[in-house]
Amino acid sequence: MRWMLLLFMSLSLPVLADLDYSLKPRQIAEDTWLLEGSTDNFAKANGGNIVNTAFIVTEPGVVVIDTGPSKRYGEAMRKAIAAITDKPVIQVLLTHHHPDHVLGNQAFTDVPIGALAGTTGLLRQQGDAMAENMYRLVGDWMRGTEVVLPTRTLTPGVQSFGNHDLHLLSLGGHTGADLVILDRKTGVLFAGDLVFYQRALTTPNSPGLAVWLSDIATLQGLPWTLIGPIPERFTGISLSRYELIRSVSHLYPRYERTQMTRVDSTANK
Ligand SMILES: [Zn+2]
Repeated sequence: MRWMLLLFMSLSLPVLADLDYSLKPRQIAEDTWLLEGSTDNFAKANGGNIVNTAFIVTEPGVVVIDTGPSKRYGEAMRKAIAAITDKPVIQVLLTHHHPDHVLGNQAFTDVPIGALAGTTGLLRQQGDAMAENMYRLVGDWMRGTEVVLPTRTLTPGVQSFGNHDLHLLSLGGHTGADLVILDRKTGVLFAGDLVFYQRALTTPNSPGLAVWLSDIATLQGLPWTLIGPIPERFTGISLSRYELIRSVSHLYPRYERTQMTRVDSTANK
């Protein structure tokens, strides 16, 4: 009977857990933890958790990178952090204004929430509409969620938290205001949504693939050793880093040309 009980429990888990994101931080480098989301689109099944967030446990405290898609996620993230370390959260860094990255801000109003000026501007313009759309897409998971604007404007350069020197870069290929963070201590590059893995790019706010490609070239020139959630089984493969970037650089211009031809021929008819 035990297996039947287990089966029953696993089938009924979402109800029993009352919309629990079940966040499980995974250590990807020294002091560095990743919360990996689904590669699906926003859906009631995933509560909008299609994002990878992260946190770095530095000497003075925890630096959080993106806060997730809802108040509930932000609160769950804080609990997940507290299960790893007793240190306080001291800073939030937002990579860009998209809803899955910023709507957990409500759970971090006691610490500085940093973003590029452009990100704050976009969130001010689009935040309420994006939140409304999220309510429509994932329903109850969003309960109580409101847009909280960043409280600190980030500028490019190096910001140090203990012995973690974080190199902040201001890029723009994905939304026009994209923060990229390179932790010089660990070599981990937090590329936000400038790099997608096993998922197509999302482009609604993008200023275009030319900008995006130039950002990719910038990323290629950085001395990173690990990028976001790429599984370890690939990182050991020779040239995987080079080939990943090269394939994106090759494939997207070709894709863009194909699309443009089609639009032209339709327009001429
Ligand atoms: Zn995005």
